[in-house]
Parts: sequence; C-alpha cells; structure tokens
Amino acid sequence: MNIRMILLFLLLAQYGKAQQSTIVGTYQFNLNPMRTFGVKVENDTLRFFEDPNLLRVMYPLGNNKYKVGIVKPEAIVEFVPGKMIVNQGGKDYDCFKIWDDPTFPKAKRAPNRQNGFTRADTLRGKLSPLRSCYDVTYYHLTVEVHPATRTLEGNSLIRFNTVTPFRELQVDLYENMSIDSILYKGQRLAYTREYDAVFIQFPAVIPQGSIDEFRVYYHGRPQEPDLSVSMNGGMLWRKDENGKTFAQIVMQGSGASVWWPNKDHLSDESDSTLISVIVPDDVQNISNGRLRNKVALPGNRTLTEWFVSYPINNYNIVFNIGDYTHFSDTYGDLTLDYYCLPNHLENARKLSAKVKPMLEQFEKHFGPYPFPRDGFKLIETVYPMEHQSCVALGGFQAMNGELERLMSHEVAHEWWGNNVSMKDFADFWLHEAFATYAEKIMLEFTKGHEAAVKALEREPVDNKEPMIGEYDVNHVHYNLYDVYSKGCRVIHTLRSVLNNDTLFFDILRGIQKDFAYQTVTTHDVETYISKKAGIDLSPFFDQYLRTILVPELAYYKKGGQLYYKWNNTIPGFKMPVRVTVDGLYIFIYPTDNWSTIAIKKKDIKVDTENFYVKVKEEKAR
Ligand SMILES: [Zn+2]
Repeated sequence: MNIRMILLFLLLAQYGKAQQSTIVGTYQFNLNPMRTFGVKVENDTLRFFEDPNLLRVMYPLGNNKYKVGIVKPEAIVEFVPGKMIVNQGGKDYDCFKIWDDPTFPKAKRAPNRQNGFTRADTLRGKLSPLRSCYDVTYYHLTVEVHPATRTLEGNSLIRFNTVTPFRELQVDLYENMSIDSILYKGQRLAYTREYDAVFIQFPAVIPQGSIDEFRVYYHGRPQEPDLSVSMNGGMLWRKDENGKTFAQIVMQGSGASVWWPNKDHLSDESDSTLISVIVPDDVQNISNGRLRNKVALPGNRTLTEWFVSYPINNYNIVFNIGDYTHFSDTYGDLTLDYYCLPNHLENARKLSAKVKPMLEQFEKHFGPYPFPRDGFKLIETVYPMEHQSCVALGGFQAMNGELERLMSHEVAHEWWGNNVSMKDFADFWLHEAFATYAEKIMLEFTKGHEAAVKALEREPVDNKEPMIGEYDVNHVHYNLYDVYSKGCRVIHTLRSVLNNDTLFFDILRGIQKDFAYQTVTTHDVETYISKKAGIDLSPFFDQYLRTILVPELAYYKKGGQLYYKWNNTIPGFKMPVRVTVDGLYIFIYPTDNWSTIAIKKKDIKVDTENFYVKVKEEKAR
C-alpha cells in the first residue's frame, strides 16, 4: 500500500468518526415517544438498540444510511440533521434525536420481595418518629426547569403542624439531587443525609401544636425512568412533532422525592399546595389545581403558579411541559380544561366528547367528582398517570378504544387513589384494582354487561404474589398484574357475592364519602365493606388479598346428589358461588367440608366469569 492510499484511508476514517459523533445519541419513536432508541459506538462499530442488552450492528450503505443487523422486517435507518428516519416494512418512521448521550437509565434497584428490602427502603417507606412528629399542612414548591441540561433548581417551603415535640425531623430527596441550604427563620439549619433521607436539626425543640416552616434549596438532574422496571419514575424528556420540548415528571412508586424535597410518606398529604414553575417561554407548564398567576420573566422565561386547594398525594404534584393548545368546557359547575399538542387538536376534541358521559357514570357509581374547586383537566403527556385535577393521558396520536380505556382508568383514580388514598404502597390495590374495575364499569355502560364480563375474564392474572405488599418499605410489586388484573377480578367477585348492585355501589360511594380526602389502609376498607354488607368478609379478603390461592370448587355427582366443597383455601374460607344446575342459575354455599344438594340432570356449570374461582370435577366416592 502506498502512502497516498494510507492518507486516503486515514481521511476516510476521520470523516467516519466525525459522522459517527453526530449520529450517536438517543432517539424517540415519534409515533410513541415512550419508546426510545439508542445509537452508540462499540468496538469501533455503530450499534443500534432499543434494549441496551441487545445491540445490533449498523452496516453502512453510504449517504448516511445503514442497514440494521438482523431485524425483521429489514430496517434501514437514515440520518438527517436532528433525526433518524427508520424505514421498515415499506414505511418511514421519524425519530427525533433527543439527547447526545446514548446510555439509557438503569434503576438502582426496585424495592420488592424478589430483591429484598434494605435500610434505604425502610427510611423511604416507614413512618418513623422523625416523620410522624410533624404533619405537613402546606407546600410551596418553586422550581425552574432547564430542558437543555435536563436539570432543575428551586426550593421547597414546608409548613407543618407539630404533632410531638422534636428537634430533628426527616425530609426526603433522592441522593443524586443536591441540597444547597436549608433555612429556618433566616438561619441555616444543619443536616445529614443517608440514602434518600435528609435529617434536619433545629436550633431548639419545636413545641407540640406549633405551626412552623422551613425551606430547602436544591438543584440537580433528576433520574430518568428505567422503563424495564415497574413504577420506576423520573423525568421524561421528549420532543413534539415540531421539535419543541415535551417533558413530564412521573414518579408513582419512586416517589416525589425523586425531584423535590418533601416528606415523602404516603400517609401525609398537605392540605393545600402552591406549585410555581419556570420554563422557557417557547413552551408552557401545566400543573395541578388552578392557574393563579402567569408572569413573563427576563431571559425568555415564564413563571406559572398553580394552587391546589385540596389534600394531594405527593406523587401527584407535577409539571407538564409542552407547546400546549388549550380548550375548555363545563360539566354542570365543573370546569373542564383540555391541553394537547397542536397537531393533535382534532383527536383531543374527539376524546373530550367522551368525558362528560364518563364523569356521569363515575359520579353515579362512586359519588361526586372530588375536586370541584380545582376543576378537571385532561392533558396530553408522554406517559399516562392519574395526576390529581390534571390527569395525564399519554399521547393523543391515535384515537382508539385503548385511549378511551386508559382515560377511564386514569380518571377513575380521581376517586380511587386521589380522593381515597393508600397510606402505604403495600395497599396499592386500593388504587389500581378499583381503577381497573372502573374500566369495566365504563365498558358495561358503553358495550354492555357481557362485554365487560368477557374483558374481566381476559385480564392476565399471574398470581405470583399476594395483592397486598410488604408494609413500611415502599414495596413496589415486581409484577403489576397481580394488583391490577387479579384486583379487578376480586372486586367483581365481591360484587357477585353480594348479588345486590344497589348495595355494592352504595358501599363504593360510602367509601368515597366517609374516607374523602383521607389516606387509608386495606384494613380500614375491608372492615368498612364487611360492616356495610352486614357479612364478615374477612375470610374473603384474607384469601384473595393475602394469599395467591385461587379457590377451587371441587364437586362430584352421586345418586341424585351434587357433592361440593372448596379446595385451595385458607382455613374457615366460605363463599357462595353461582352454578347452573337443572337449568337453574342458583347460589350454592360451599365450605371446606363436603355439602350436597339434590340434582336431576348431570350437567353443572360454575359461573367462573363472575366469580374468580377454579373448578374441578372429582371422581364419585
Ligand atoms: Zn392506575
């Protein structure tokens, strides 16, 4: 090889490197911005990935085009400034480049039974004396969002009522976020940090009954969710179809301390909250509650202040940033506000037409909308979440039945989760089982009872672990189907056992009324249901919530008698179940001992659609 050839190769290699450096990064799939792709260099070769554990070689085709190794159908990616175009199956898909860094976030670890629990989980999940000594009455969170650097800076005013005298208390802020100072009556407070807990020392004992406040100044780059881990939260930084910032904070499970300093225990909701957010003025911020104030600030920034006049879960307090288009409506005295990306206005209007009938159904079955002073907002976001009075629905790109289902789920959380809220993440089913069941209630309304029952039967129950989690450790289920899917089947089974829809919905409305704006435990709710139903349902709840055993109805026929009993149950389990025998749809009352009824015909059919049970025909004995 002569020297000229070598020089040419070196030049080509340099050119290739420069090209690679502009290509490398993270891209969002514009049709579904929850999906992101990475392009990185490994062993001097460009690699494409969606799952960081599955890197695919990119074979250069010239003109900034590459063939992606072994995907079906074959995929060609082309890079133009600011985006990657994926050609697959004869179609082009746009993917905006959203970040130069191609590494995807990795969750530290999820606190669950599979991984075990640590001291950090106890600090996060337990209502220790350093937390129970004060009751938060008010938060004023002020935060400036910097999309260009994916960072936040701000401060959190925490006003509290002193429950027991203390000199030290705990607030929470993820350890990757920096604390600048903590001020109390103009004086800096000393503090120490351990994992995501911050222990603050006061200059003197704060006496019981006193109302006091302090302010935590902080900054940092909040974690971004590891999408392979259930309920891993953080910042979602995306772009809309016009290339503008489209960003959201979402943190159910991970907790609000992922991005701002607060008492991050579910048992304590502030009575009211002011959320002040500063964003670049080419986009807007929409938070919970009512917009109180909007101010243009120097440096092309805008401040908006949103006031929440009801108690609110910390993980519901949010900002949503985008180039939002807005329209409004009313439902009786309730204001309805809709926010969507400019390109999705038509879909948003179609969706909004479904809102009033849905609210009507929910009010009928669960009681009045819980937050009328704050109004009702529905907002297009990257990811759906039940954020109080500002329900996030994910993207409005496609208007279909799935988006409607999702809307009924997230909106139902205004009752189940936001009005009546769990005290501990172990009781997560109180939010999710009921919200998933609310989807079926809407389906029953729009498509009929049969369609709802069929949808319930299709729920993918895994039954790997009990619906109730471990207390005091902020337990996030490894497998959410056991909470959502099994949960809604259990609620439907309860409805079938009661066999009285008036009573069943009276109980649901009663829970909403009697526990309004409160945090509750499973025990509170199950005791309430038993009392209102006039039946001791504790064996029912113990069986379905605290074990993974599915009751199995064993039966056999002999001499004109049907013999039946429950298998696979806890001691003392008894539950009526409906069967069709001799053409009649009747209740039988199995226990864990054999019972009998006289039958004429041989066929029996157990109603496994309306009762979450299994069936086993045994040999006559
Ligand atoms: Zn939900």
